[in-house]
Amino acid sequence: MTVRVRLAPSPTGNLHIGTARTALFNWLFARKNNGKFLLRIEDTDKERSKEEFTKNILEGLSWLGMNWDEEPIIQSNRVNEHRKAIQILLKKGLAYRCYANELELELMREGQKANNQAPRYDNRNRNLSPQEEAKYISEGRTSVIRFRIEDQTSIKWDDMVRGAMHWEGKDLGGDMVISRRAPGNEIGDPLYNLVVVIDDGDMGITHVIRGEDHIANTAKQILLYQALELNIPKFAHTPLILNQDGKKLSKRDGVTSISEFKEKGYTSEAMANYMTLLGWSVPDGMEERFSIEQASKVFEFDRVNKAGAKFDWEKLKWLNSQVLHNWSSEQIFESIKPLLENEGWELPDMQWCLALSELIKPSLTLITDCIEQSKFFFEEPLLQDDAKRQLELEGAKESLSTLLEQIEQLKPEELDLENSKDLINQAAKLGGFKKGLIMKSLRAALLGSLKGPDLMTSWILLSKLNKDAIRIKKYL
Ligand code: GLU
Repeated sequence: MTVRVRLAPSPTGNLHIGTARTALFNWLFARKNNGKFLLRIEDTDKERSKEEFTKNILEGLSWLGMNWDEEPIIQSNRVNEHRKAIQILLKKGLAYRCYANELELELMREGQKANNQAPRYDNRNRNLSPQEEAKYISEGRTSVIRFRIEDQTSIKWDDMVRGAMHWEGKDLGGDMVISRRAPGNEIGDPLYNLVVVIDDGDMGITHVIRGEDHIANTAKQILLYQALELNIPKFAHTPLILNQDGKKLSKRDGVTSISEFKEKGYTSEAMANYMTLLGWSVPDGMEERFSIEQASKVFEFDRVNKAGAKFDWEKLKWLNSQVLHNWSSEQIFESIKPLLENEGWELPDMQWCLALSELIKPSLTLITDCIEQSKFFFEEPLLQDDAKRQLELEGAKESLSTLLEQIEQLKPEELDLENSKDLINQAAKLGGFKKGLIMKSLRAALLGSLKGPDLMTSWILLSKLNKDAIRIKKYL
């Protein structure tokens, strides 16, 4: 049997981290088993589905490194198949039309509430006579189609994450609506639980891997598989992603869509790595830093936890910094270039840009940190308090002025790691200054702060922009 799994996103929003994590578990499982990872765009909610969200979802999956097999299936193109299935259920007497209107249903629910009963449809239209139906239709009533769920039915499956699962028909809320309201005895738009079963069946899906918020749907869907005599796939319900308070991660927790994480400066490698760890623990001896290709060699559902996975921003940031620190300067430059250009900064030649990338690399946690880290090259830095104090120290200005005399004997393009040290040594010797005093004062003048990246490299890069002497002169 070839494993066939699918991600079935609704394009009613950008790719959400929860959906992306579900996608990853599907992808990892497919790749581990040499199977197929398929996509189905569930766009049947016409009002909320948008082309731009489909685009965002596909781009997000690609960005995270999840390639899919076969052309994505567009659910709305399959409405005839869905309707056919409803006809079959009607014919078999396993589904029926319910003409109860909103008011009647509301009164029914109020009655249940008053009696402390859980809200459910009371199956009131299950056995309408042809005369009763004809009467409802002549009254101009609309109808939904409901699938019969017997209270005594017991539904069992062996969940790949949660083990033995058991539901009773009576806990599923009564006969289930499988098509939206339509006039008289027409068939309205088919609904989620029905269409998912038809589509998963037609796509030959062998394993349905999705969030645990779908558990009750799975129970209902198994009944539909049985009614339609389709093969029932295996199911895996993955744990929810929680915030620090143990609640489902939501917009209120900051970013939740993959494109937002990207904009904030997270790398796809760190994101994919971190999301895999949200609910899956690595086998003994495997490091927590990995590519999803590496994870796909060892991914099994027995290492997926049942408990919700807490989202840990610090860990994600740490992973992101590790990824960036391991990138080549070319990779760093490629990703920071658009950000620097967006600031309106004119970038010098490639060699300079790669040197800048190498210089700031160790201080990057997020790609977007590049702005803060390289600002002083492009804009006059504001003098920080520590730098101000440094420049007021006895001998600070004199040491800079001696150094400047040395600098002016060189052409800016001649300054390199060798002779820059010589210049400092020379200035120290000539004026009798401590080297530490010269270097700290130089840092204060050039960077406006005593903190920041490597001084000598920063100085060399500034000199190539003809900015070192000018900045020193400001404080003399
Ligand atoms: N469109 C559904 C969702 O996004 C799919 C659920 C499923 O995988 O069946 O929640």
